[in-house]
Amino acid sequence: MDRTGIIYECMRCGSTVPSEELELRGGEIKCIICGYRILKKVKPPVVKRVKAR
Ligand SMILES: [Zn+2]
Repeated sequence: MDRTGIIYECMRCGSTVPSEELELRGGEIKCIICGYRILKKVKPPVVKRVKAR
């Protein structure tokens, strides 16, 4: 599995929370640091490898 998890960024404290972490907590979109419910979806800083032929 090379599916990269989605990262959420808290709009209040700025913490980044991986989606797996949220799933462990009942799947609720909620900051694990401050409990704020508005999180922005951000892409993890992963360089996409494009296979050249
Ligand atoms: Zn927060």
